[in-house]
Amino acid sequence: MAYTSHGHQINGTERDGSKKPATVARCGGPGICGKCSMEATSALRDELAEAILDSGLISYNEEVNRVEHILIRHFRHDELFGEAKETSERFLQLAQFIDRTIQDEAWKTIVLAKLHETQTVAIRAVLEGR
Ligand SMILES: [Zn+2]
Repeated sequence: MAYTSHGHQINGTERDGSKKPATVARCGGPGICGKCSMEATSALRDELAEAILDSGLISYNEEVNRVEHILIRHFRHDELFGEAKETSERFLQLAQFIDRTIQDEAWKTIVLAKLHETQTVAIRAVLEGR
């Protein structure tokens, strides 16, 4: 797990083995705080870039499939249940639709990153009963 400089966990990151910070700012974290959102988006993009580099000798098409898979993975929230799970699954379906319909990889990455931020806010709102 990676963390923002305000101390919030960045959902979807796995590669960074950094330790959980001792203090967490009350800024709302990714999806609410501008600084946290920017850092979370860039951490997810870095992870994506690493995965592409790691992929080595696979063909272009396989590489594209792997990129799609990595992005969509961030929309799955198996730890949730009830209304929060339903909310997360609506975003997952939307992400899969975007994945199928947007051909340009760079544009798709930006749209999915923005959608993921929105999903984070929506799930938090459900969990906090807003
Ligand atoms: Zn913050």
